[in-house]
Amino acid sequence: MDSSLDLETQYCAHNYHPLPVVLARGEGVFVWDVAGKKYLDMMSAYSAVSHGHAHPRLVKAVQEQAARLTIVSRAFHSDTLGPFLARVCELTGQDMALPMNTGAEAVETAIKAARKWAYTVKGVAENQAEIIGCDGNFHGRTIAAVAMSDEPQYQQGFGPFPPGFLNVEYGNIDALAAAINPNTAAFIVEPIQGEGGIVIPPRGYLQDAARLCRENNVLLIVDEIQTGLGRTGKFLACDHEGVKPDGLILGKALGGGILPVSMFLARRDVMDVFTPGDHGSTFGGNPLAAAAGLEALEILVEEDLAANSAEMGDYLIERLRELDSPVIRDIRGKGLFVGVEIEPARTSARTVCEALMERGLLSKETHATVVRLAPPLVIGKAEIDWAVEQIRSVVDDVDQVPLAS
Ligand SMILES: *Cc1c(COP(=O)(O)O)cnc(C)c1O
Repeated sequence: MDSSLDLETQYCAHNYHPLPVVLARGEGVFVWDVAGKKYLDMMSAYSAVSHGHAHPRLVKAVQEQAARLTIVSRAFHSDTLGPFLARVCELTGQDMALPMNTGAEAVETAIKAARKWAYTVKGVAENQAEIIGCDGNFHGRTIAAVAMSDEPQYQQGFGPFPPGFLNVEYGNIDALAAAINPNTAAFIVEPIQGEGGIVIPPRGYLQDAARLCRENNVLLIVDEIQTGLGRTGKFLACDHEGVKPDGLILGKALGGGILPVSMFLARRDVMDVFTPGDHGSTFGGNPLAAAAGLEALEILVEEDLAANSAEMGDYLIERLRELDSPVIRDIRGKGLFVGVEIEPARTSARTVCEALMERGLLSKETHATVVRLAPPLVIGKAEIDWAVEQIRSVVDDVDQVPLAS
């Protein structure tokens, strides 16, 4: 096999199980491996590459900024951070933002904001604040994010975990209502659970959650790290239900597929709980990240990537449904955030992904049964048609294998 794969296997921690492909170059919706084989990227780095690989405007913006000023830390101001945060607040309807780098850090920021808000504004007694999450959630891999998870593997061997977190059934508004109590600081929720298997809650769930939170003086914090920035066919997935959360978490595509850029956004009275020294990050909001983030936002708006996501997502789901294969148990999604659930009696999602890789289509399983299809939002019909034909061939091959009795 390729020597860089061997080196990675020897020297890189085995905290992932990558498909055996070694990529060397990317452009738009395509990537190439070290042997020059071309692949259609239907994963786009868990939605971080929504703009497509090496978007010329992003490359230019980052190159220019890299030559001018990259990192100053927040010990000083820079001439790029203000314009970036003003634009992201304008586009999301939030008042203020706290820039970080990775998604998990922005989630931590949201948790800290919610807790301090509970003590200083809501009047919860010291160390009693509770945060409600959902079964099947994914908010990252820090200890607090893992404390919120109900996935045994994410917790096994990593305890003890901080207290103050509880989960309710995702999509069940009565369960949320029953869990809220005077110590509840926030409800943190994904509009669609991505890592959970592209799970879409009942229509109106976010609206109902927003109303419940408002009535009980609880912050509604929406984790749109994966669903935001056009992925589901609207600028934010919250926009499908006209919900404006009290706090919003962005990441992944915010860095234009070039840099890690994340943030927690909130109403002014929530963000105001932070005073100098409360929280920070050496790299958060650096000039290079701000230049990438601002250009990423302008491209999203000017190329109307959310509209393309809506149109191409509908087209992809329609074409997938035509496959009508006994190997496929369910097809679900919104915009270009699509899950194909494989019939577990027939094969695993991993096996399907490996067969697709052989045919030049890159995707990744989430859990044992779901193949995630989340290509860059710049994808067109011809590429979707090609992708669906590859999926057809793979599920047809599986269907040839007789069912084990
Ligand atoms: C990816 C993801 C995170 C974590 O982001 P990282 O950048 O990997 O730390 C958190 N929440 C959601 C919904 C995500 O999809």
